[in-house]
Amino acid sequence: MRVRVAVFTLGGTIAMAPGPASGAPGAVPALTGQQLLDAVPGLDGIDAEVHEFRQLPSASLTIADIGELAAAIGERIAAGAAGAVVIQGTDTIEETAFLLDLLHAGPEPVVVTGAMRTPAAAGADGPANILAAVRAAASPVLRDLGALVVFGEEIHAARFVRKADTTSVTAFASPVAGPLGRVVEGEPRLLTRPATRFTVPVTTPLRPVRTGLVALALGDDGELLRAAAGRFDGLVVAALGAGHVPAATMPALAALAGQVPVVFGSRTGRGWVLSGVYGFAGSERDLLGVGLISAGVLEPVKARLLLHVLLAAGASRAEIDAAFRTAAG
Ligand code: GLU
Repeated sequence: MRVRVAVFTLGGTIAMAPGPASGAPGAVPALTGQQLLDAVPGLDGIDAEVHEFRQLPSASLTIADIGELAAAIGERIAAGAAGAVVIQGTDTIEETAFLLDLLHAGPEPVVVTGAMRTPAAAGADGPANILAAVRAAASPVLRDLGALVVFGEEIHAARFVRKADTTSVTAFASPVAGPLGRVVEGEPRLLTRPATRFTVPVTTPLRPVRTGLVALALGDDGELLRAAAGRFDGLVVAALGAGHVPAATMPALAALAGQVPVVFGSRTGRGWVLSGVYGFAGSERDLLGVGLISAGVLEPVKARLLLHVLLAAGASRAEIDAAFRTAAG
């Protein structure tokens, strides 16, 4: 029996045509989902049903778009698809894949991919990435792993992956954990599995909430944090090192944490924020002491999405704390 995979196209470089072909001065999304699939050899034995979901550069996708996408994936899986593939721009893959990971509770693989080179570029990587992603989504080997990113033949857990290069065709990496496996000879080979999986039970469309991300830096005196007061339902700060902030930002952070959930993660991109090593003003102990929530191993952009989905689900403060304890690893 042929395996059915639902393929959703959202735009991105993988579907872009350069100026003369598109009529625009630079590359813009132009190719249809079917055109993308037609350029991929080696899909025999798999029925790829194409859904043209959006046609956007990925920086312009929204959280609501991905909530809608998660619902559409759920519908196609309920209708018999063995898994789903999402083809989109690479700039936000680390975020959209993680959102899908939080929203997709079933065992079927949801595989996100894209390309670093346009279809017209020499050595375009789109067709190979689509082929690997579709084969991965059709495979029973990747069941129960939530959402994955398949790129440059590597299989990454949505939770750990990040775009780590602006232009390389091997732009995706999982600095804290490494890839889960590879796609070899068209078949996914799993090397390792994450220790846990977590999802957030929430109905879509997601309730609109506003969450923000503020990156702290040398000499920061808290001006942006003060400006954020009263504007967000929840906030994430990308702190320095293992969870440290300039002492001058502490009053603003303490005030914010008294109003809305405020989470701190590390802007380093790799490793856990600490909980009990340092005791200076602006240390992790100080942040926890005034009520901030630890993102643990979750990168700030992902911590923001977890906080967003929890708030959209109407989670209480105790539920938010518990979810972050699990997700923080
Ligand atoms: N480099 C990005 C891509 O690979 C640019 C555009 C986007 O993210 O949509 O697609």
